[in-house]
Parts: sequence; C-alpha cells; structure tokens
Amino acid sequence: MDDRRNAREVRAWEIARSFGEDIVPLFTVRGCADAEYIRDVARTKRLLERWSMDNVFRSLLYANPQSACDAYGIDIDPQNVRTLWHEREAQQRKQDRIDGRPVPEDSLSVRRYRSFIVEKLAFRDWMRDVQTGVTGRFGLWRLQQMHRCTLELGPAKSAGLVHATVAFELQKGCSVGCWFCGVGAEKLSAYFAYTPENQALWRDMLSVCHEVIGDSVFNGFCYWASDPLDNPDYVHFITDFRRAFGRYPQTTTAIPLRNEAKTREILEMVKACPGEIQRFSILSLKMLDEVHSRFTPEDLINVELLPLNRESGVPKANAGRARLKSPRDQAKTSDEQPQTIACVSGFLFNMVDRSVRMVTPCHASDRWPNGYRVLAEGHFGNADELRNLLVKWIARAEHVVAPDRTIALNPCLVATMVAETGYDISSIWVKRTLINFPAFATLDRLLHNGFHTAADIATLVEDETGTALEETFNVLNELLRLGALDTEPVASEPVVQYVGKIKAADSV
Ligand code: SF4
Repeated sequence: MDDRRNAREVRAWEIARSFGEDIVPLFTVRGCADAEYIRDVARTKRLLERWSMDNVFRSLLYANPQSACDAYGIDIDPQNVRTLWHEREAQQRKQDRIDGRPVPEDSLSVRRYRSFIVEKLAFRDWMRDVQTGVTGRFGLWRLQQMHRCTLELGPAKSAGLVHATVAFELQKGCSVGCWFCGVGAEKLSAYFAYTPENQALWRDMLSVCHEVIGDSVFNGFCYWASDPLDNPDYVHFITDFRRAFGRYPQTTTAIPLRNEAKTREILEMVKACPGEIQRFSILSLKMLDEVHSRFTPEDLINVELLPLNRESGVPKANAGRARLKSPRDQAKTSDEQPQTIACVSGFLFNMVDRSVRMVTPCHASDRWPNGYRVLAEGHFGNADELRNLLVKWIARAEHVVAPDRTIALNPCLVATMVAETGYDISSIWVKRTLINFPAFATLDRLLHNGFHTAADIATLVEDETGTALEETFNVLNELLRLGALDTEPVASEPVVQYVGKIKAADSV
C-alpha cells in the first residue's frame, strides 16, 4: 500500500505541475496547499455544484453572474472562473485551440480547479487499474470484463467503472426508496449489527477475501442496493475494513443529513487517508440547499455531490427500478446509451442473509434488469465455507477458451471485417483489430455460425487453410480476452434479479 501511495503522490505532482509552477497537489498529498488555495478550489467547486443541479441558478448566472452568486451565498468572483461554467465560451476556447488560434491563459483559480479534477480522475484510474493481487485466473477474468464493458457500454462509461472486486451490503434493502434505483434496492428490512459474533465473522471474511482475491480488495466498498448510513454500526465495520485493507471504503450516501454528527464523524475519520473521495447523492434541490447550508465548501472539498435531482437534467440509467416506472418529467437513458450503474466485477456480499454472488456489469435488460450479470450465487455460514465458494468460482472463471466450449461472437458486435491489415471487430462504440493470423476469413465465417466448439473451429481452420490448431486457439483466446466472445451464462440457467417495489415520486 505504501508503494502505491508513493506512486500516487509522484503522479499528483506531475499533474499539478502540468497546470503551472504555481499549482500544487490538493487531493492526493496533504499539506501542499495553504488555506487560501483550498478556499479558492472549494468555492469554485460549490459554484459548479449549484450550477449543475439548479436550473434557476444557471439562468441567473448567465444573466448576471455576480448577483447570482451573491443571492446564493457563494463567495466567489464568477468571472474569474467563467470558462468552467460558461459553456459557449469554453467551447469557443476549445475550438480556438484546435484551430491554432491564440487562447488567453486560464486564470489561477481555473488551473487550480482543473488540476484538482485531474488528480481525482487519476484516483479513479488507480482504483480501476489496480494490478496487485488481481493476478492469475481472477485477474484475467476481471480484465476480460473491463474489455467487454468497453465494447458493450463504450469507452467513456467504461472508464468510469472501477470494477471493484468486492462490495458488502451491511443491510437488507434501503430506507431511501429512490424511484430510479439502478440496482433495484428493496425496502429496508434488517441490518447486520456489530455484535461480537458478527464482528468475528466480518473480520474473518475480510481475511478470506484478502487471501483468496488478493490486495485488489482494497477497492471494495460497503454498500450496493443499500445505503451505508442505514446501518448504525457502519463506522465499526469500516474501521475493520481499514485495518484489513489499508484504507477506508468509499462512502456514498443519500442520507447525509439524517444523522449529521455521524456523517461528520465519517468525514473526519477518512481524513486520516488523504486522496479519498466520499459522495452524497443529491435527490432534490431542497436537499442541495440543506447540504450547502450545513456544510462549508471546505468541509466538502473531498465529497462529490451527485446530481440526481430532477433540475439537474441528468438522465437516470434505465436500470433497476427505473425500468419499471418513472415520473413523467424525469429523463432516462435511451437504449443506445449505457444502462447500468453497476461497477463490481467480483463478489457481492449481503451480510444479513450471508449470501455472495459473482457479478459483472452489463447493459440492463429484461434478463438482467439491475445492470449486472449474476454468474454464481451461494450462501455461507462461516469464513471457511466462504473460502470454498470463492475458490470454486474463481477456478471456474473463464480466462482461456476450453476446447469443448461453443464459440459465438458477443452480440454487441455490429460488424466484422477481414482487411489486409487484419481482422476488425466493431461494436457501436469501438473497433478492435487482430493481426498476425493467416486464416481470418475462414475464422470469421465459423464465428458467425455461432454453434461450433473451439476444437471444431480449430480443426476446420486447419483442414481448410493448414493453420496449426494452436494458432487458432491463440486467436480465440485473444477474442475472449477482448470481451468479443459471447460469455453470457446460458439462458437455461437464469438467475432471477429482484427489482424493489416502485415508489412513484422522488423520495425526498
Ligand atoms: S439509489 Fe436510492 S434506493 Fe437505491 S440504494 Fe441508493 S439510496 Fe437506496
């Protein structure tokens, strides 16, 4: 963990200096920025939070910037950061840069803010690209899911999925009941209390996860179709998590104000680990007002406010409960857009019923309404039983093509083409090109048949073109690695996903 932190700090300095000699790390490295610097970035962040979630403020800001900020108590000169919120001007600058026209230098405040954002993006990439501990069969399987998601959901969406290896629900259900809940949370019915017996199971489980999955478990978190703050003992669980994995799990909550003292306690605890993001889901303008009035900009410098209120105009993923019903004035993603909020390629635990599922993100569909595939599920009574399940599932995780496996292309592929340069496979988002194989034309035909086993394909390719069997297997393995083969579990073994009862209006 120390080596990884050091690497992050080096990267944070590189990022800062790419914005100017007067820019320093703010997010990753503690103590580089003075109070004025922090204040500047925190107030810029607050302006942009209001701008992104409040359509009335947006209009006022365009009409009379300073009056708008004064009216909302945002202590900032908005003209100083104009290129961050004035979309037309920002677009013009971008175009000028592309066209080689002179562009005025960004203000100090803008450069500070942009550096801060890039540092946070580097954190996200660090969480996603973690290699340590994600080696061997499980690591190859996870990498395959990342590539598959890029084909199916597009690079932009895919880059935002951290593919966490573990997520622990400490409750059964969620008390909030958002109409758009993308993972179909059911109504809160029970929570996992931090009793001596549960504490022992929890700590043993964390050890087993670390032992079987590896260091990558540090990118896990303690919620899913649940709100972490529904559990009154949450602080104890994340304290154990930190002891086991070296960091606190990210907290994302839609109820930060329900017990403000508890929320503040958590924000204070996580300060011990610099370079961590917490998140508040903002469900309504009223909630934004409350959050902004109770927490200073500096309190929330490392807390992202997720714009889930209607006025933000951000469409909800058509997944989970949002697939069933939605208020008429709420925007949802269309079928062409990525429809998932799931971000785990690994194991999803519910501590109340002691269940575990092996999951990976996908487009929400009638079969997978919650936007993730369930590849295996089981229950455990103790840590040994859990170890046995995880070991068994990881041993089954497909990382190379078995000879008797039926081979078909991933249905998300819209075109394949044998060109002089190689073999192109394309989804609506990206194209991949395979090279160095003499029989792409034959292979392409057999792949489109969709019913041959790998062994049959290799044999037929050899018969037609004289290509060695192992060369064909190498290409099939590469297609599997790129997520280009159909790996959806067969439909004869459906796993039912529960989508919680609908609440027809905003819950707050
Ligand atoms: S989206 Fe809403 S209902 Fe779903 S888990 Fe989060 S807070 Fe609960």
